[in-house]
Amino acid sequence: FSTEKHSKVDDYHYGGGAGMLMQAQPINDCYEALKAEIGKKPHLIYMSPQGKVLTQERAKQLAQFDNIAILCGHYEGIDERILEKIVDEEISVGDYVLTGGELPALILTDCIARMIDGVLPNSEAFSEESHFTGLLEHPQYTKPFEWEGRTVPEVLISGHHANIAKWKREQSLKRTYERRPDMLEKAQLEPVLTGEMCPQCGQPL
Ligand code: SAM
Repeated sequence: FSTEKHSKVDDYHYGGGAGMLMQAQPINDCYEALKAEIGKKPHLIYMSPQGKVLTQERAKQLAQFDNIAILCGHYEGIDERILEKIVDEEISVGDYVLTGGELPALILTDCIARMIDGVLPNSEAFSEESHFTGLLEHPQYTKPFEWEGRTVPEVLISGHHANIAKWKREQSLKRTYERRPDMLEKAQLEPVLTGEMCPQCGQPL
């Protein structure tokens, strides 16, 4: 999209400073071409270490949008004027600086896409993960039952669904308390009932 004779997309900073900045014109023309192609204005997110840090909650909301476009900076970043003109939201993947916005854009894309119908086999595949309800997930185990002298917690092979659900809930709360006590302040602490009954004890699951 550069109109410069060598197809250059960056230049030095006004006022001096290390590195190069991406220019407004190529990004503006790219954005206009994208709007024409999809026939509407997408929600434009600029991946930036100065944006709001990505959370599961924001990703859930973004999964409802029809169109999202992601702008990735490189070098020292992007001319502020194009950001002011077209960007709807700035998102950061954490309080550290990377070389470009490509990896942050992939992180954002993956985080949103796995909550869209049809991407994973079912909604439990993402709704029972850490962060979805504001807690960390309980520990998980697969076969064999005993490995290097360590066994799986007995309750998990009891077949008692209500006890298993209780164990998972306790472990999730314990783990969150030990590793991320800050999360407990905002977590959804009411139990999430599935609407099913335990075939063994008749209790709601
Ligand atoms: N000069 C910018 C500053 O100090 O705020 C940093 C520019 S960084 C070297 C180059 C590009 O990488 C940014 O424009 C942005 O797109 C991307 N980037 C770097 N760190 C990021 C982060 N933590 N989250 C999201 N994007 C990031």
